[in-house]
Amino acid sequence: MQYKSCQWVNRGIEFRTNELRLCCYGYLQGRETEYQTTIKENYHGEIFDWNEIFAIKEKLKEQHKQGIYLDACKDCIYLHEKDWDEENYINHFTFNHWTKCNCNCTYCYTMDDKKKFNSYKEYHLYPIVKDMFKKGIIKKTEESCIIFGGGEPTILKEFDKLIDLFLEKGCKNIRINSSGIKFSKSIAKGLKLGAISLVISTDSGCKETYEKIKQVKAYKKVWENIRKYAKAQGENNLLKVKYILYPGVNDNYEEINKWFDEVIKNGVKAVSLSVEQDWYNTHQPDFTPEIYEQIAYMEKRSKELGLELEIYCEALAVLRESNFPKSDKSQF
Ligand code: SF4
Ligand code: SF4
Repeated sequence: MQYKSCQWVNRGIEFRTNELRLCCYGYLQGRETEYQTTIKENYHGEIFDWNEIFAIKEKLKEQHKQGIYLDACKDCIYLHEKDWDEENYINHFTFNHWTKCNCNCTYCYTMDDKKKFNSYKEYHLYPIVKDMFKKGIIKKTEESCIIFGGGEPTILKEFDKLIDLFLEKGCKNIRINSSGIKFSKSIAKGLKLGAISLVISTDSGCKETYEKIKQVKAYKKVWENIRKYAKAQGENNLLKVKYILYPGVNDNYEEINKWFDEVIKNGVKAVSLSVEQDWYNTHQPDFTPEIYEQIAYMEKRSKELGLELEIYCEALAVLRESNFPKSDKSQF
């Protein structure tokens, strides 16, 4: 039946540190209502009855057919009109059941209380996913996606086992963000198969800036691992190295050019570009000409170097405001 709904209400699940949710996007409509996307509270890795979850989804789908939406969903960008099938299955996952990380990015939300975020225990997800495959709850479709949030995924005890299971079952579109500090053979395998896309944010082209932002001594190691992943990947360039423009820290052409040098030197073919979230939130819509020019410069440079470029929505928003006066540091 044709109606406006979303993949996550129909087929999605998010595993969080202490609950299950429909998705991880409820916060986009405001922190006050995001709790409405919770479908099971106090959850810590127990096997549960999927009929309970599908009953909640059925109720929401019926509401969507009548044009009724949760406040947390009303203006969501993921709502769209299509012919939704009636079958109950899961093909959208977000794993956010841990927050521990082997890096200390100064812009990370976990920096509010790193000790607390690093102390949350991960729960066992491998048996849950295995059980889902056994019961036929997971269905692979063209639209399937598996997202690892976190925390740093490669330090999860079950990470390689879980990835191997998804790969074994032929799953694709597995999206992983990693600090790049720990090399994972299963990620390399997934890159080779074209089943995993990996983003590693280095934000710097030299050790000093890296250590200032990341607060760990791992610059060399991370680029070594990037080089290994770049070698392992198949033809579709699913490894992306990211630069988050962080005003006052790495927003200068010298750093940006050094970063491009590392990208090329280490065999990377695709890059991503974003703007630090807090800076973005406090400055929008009054961005500076300097940031605009640096984003435009990185876009131009990527093209010149033959790199695929993905621009995140924050940087795109800056680019859209193209009426800036030229700055003193302009490279154009
Ligand atoms: S409409 Fe948006 S917030 Fe609501 S369940 Fe779907 S993706 Fe999540
Ligand atoms: S790598 Fe990601 S999770 Fe880890 S500290 Fe940096 S931003 Fe946070």
